[in-house]
Amino acid sequence: MALDDPRRLIPRTDQLLALPPVRRALERLSEDVVGALVRETQDRARRGEIAPGEVEPAVLAALGARSASSLTPVLNATGVVVHTNLGRAPLSAAALDALVTAGGYVDVELDLVSGTRSRRGAAARAALLAACPPAEDALVVNNGAAALVLATTALAAGREVVISRGELVEIGAGFRLPELIESTGARLREVGTTNRTHLRDYAEAIGPETGCLLKVHPSNFRLEGFTSAVEVDELRPLARAHGLPLVADLGSGLLVPDPQLPSEPDAASVLEGGADLVIASGDKLLGGPQAGLLLGGSNAVARLAAHPLARAVRADKLALAALEATLTGGPAPVTTALHADPDRLRDRAERLGAAVGAPVVAHDGRVGGGGAPGVPLPGWAVRLPEAAAPLLRTGRPAVLPRVHDRACLVDLRCVPESEDERLRAAVQAALTALAGADGGPGGAR
Ligand SMILES: *Cc1c(COP(=O)(O)O)cnc(C)c1O
Repeated sequence: MALDDPRRLIPRTDQLLALPPVRRALERLSEDVVGALVRETQDRARRGEIAPGEVEPAVLAALGARSASSLTPVLNATGVVVHTNLGRAPLSAAALDALVTAGGYVDVELDLVSGTRSRRGAAARAALLAACPPAEDALVVNNGAAALVLATTALAAGREVVISRGELVEIGAGFRLPELIESTGARLREVGTTNRTHLRDYAEAIGPETGCLLKVHPSNFRLEGFTSAVEVDELRPLARAHGLPLVADLGSGLLVPDPQLPSEPDAASVLEGGADLVIASGDKLLGGPQAGLLLGGSNAVARLAAHPLARAVRADKLALAALEATLTGGPAPVTTALHADPDRLRDRAERLGAAVGAPVVAHDGRVGGGGAPGVPLPGWAVRLPEAAAPLLRTGRPAVLPRVHDRACLVDLRCVPESEDERLRAAVQAALTALAGADGGPGGAR
């Protein structure tokens, strides 16, 4: 390098690492990440993309924009309440607080008064039992699939699970319940047909090999027409007569009935109907963290808790803390979005539409996450040109709209009202960028 080469002026790595803001950044970012950012910026200067004097501000700007997690917060403007690709349920404020506390050392398995070991997750269990009175006991595991695996393993491995052919469902992204059950070493004893299953079908299938009877709520589709299914209360006498556990996988995670979703089963009613064990997810309609909830009679739950597999699928302290707080704290965002007042939604949509000069149209939201298929949640959306969608997704804040019928629909149901102003700014920015790309105001339409 010649003596007068400007690259000699590029700040050295040790100089950059010694800058106070860079040292502070090392409290929230690893040395590797900071080092790589510094080197990348120096390299840009070596290639002549920036001047040597711009290296320091560029490093500081890059550090300021970098966080340790690459997950981007998204405003959910799809109207789909439990959105699988957006991580299902957003947590309540109480659950978020609980997560932060649980991130440190906490008494998850300790009785502080006696100083001795206590039952893990006792508080989450108590909250579940309080929220679902017919349950005698509860166990929390990693997710709904793990709960089903634990139940079928503990109750039927090496034996048969009796299940209706109408309930052999694929839940999502190639996740097939029958395959999951068979992976435990339990055999499926399929009864009935796709559209119709009768009590006698179950009765004829029961034998010495039967481990349990399983009902699965086909959460993501609806069977209509010439159909019949056997409900838990009809199966109860049969299960009792043979001393067999009756298990119901509800999927959605409603603990008690929700008038908004009349055909969605809930744990309390199904237990009252005679199920020994109910399986549900924590992050669907319950609006909590990812978790698998097992609720039911003390014998059935104890059998599961005592199985060695229980340890492999147990919930972590973060999930236990967030689950308890979801049940005992203020309303979960899922609940708020599900019960949003349509008039209020219309007001908010009209305010947004007026601010950005776009029409408001009727738009049905959805429960999503495989729950309550076909149940519309009447509401409203601001209609934008389809081309606004990618700009919204990649803007700050990121906004996920619904693209439908060649339009970009912004539904406010799942956007917290406190975010309306940021949403407006994001929509405005997208429309401005669009007008610019189309060669002037109005060009976007
Ligand atoms: C969603 C669902 C599951 C799986 O639960 P995860 O929490 O996603 O593991 C199992 N059964 C039914 C009926 C479901 O709807």
